[in-house]
Amino acid sequence: MTSNHPQTLQFRCPTCKKSIERSSDYFPFCSNRCKTTDLGRWAAGDYSIAGDDAFIPDNPEGYV
Ligand SMILES: [Zn+2]
Repeated sequence: MTSNHPQTLQFRCPTCKKSIERSSDYFPFCSNRCKTTDLGRWAAGDYSIAGDDAFIPDNPEGYV
C-alpha cells in the first residue's frame, strides 16, 4: 500500500549526491559550496562525459 507515493521524485546534488529540495536556493545543488565545487571542476577540465570523448584543448584560448 505504501509502495506508490505520488511524489517520490527526488533531486540529488550532483556534487555530493545529497537529496535536495526542488525549492532550494542553490538548486540543483544543495549548497553554494557544492555549486562552486561543480563549476570549479568544469573549469579545471576534470569532467568527463561517459560515452563521449571530451575534447579538451591544451590552450582554451586557441579554441576556434
Ligand atoms: Zn551538495
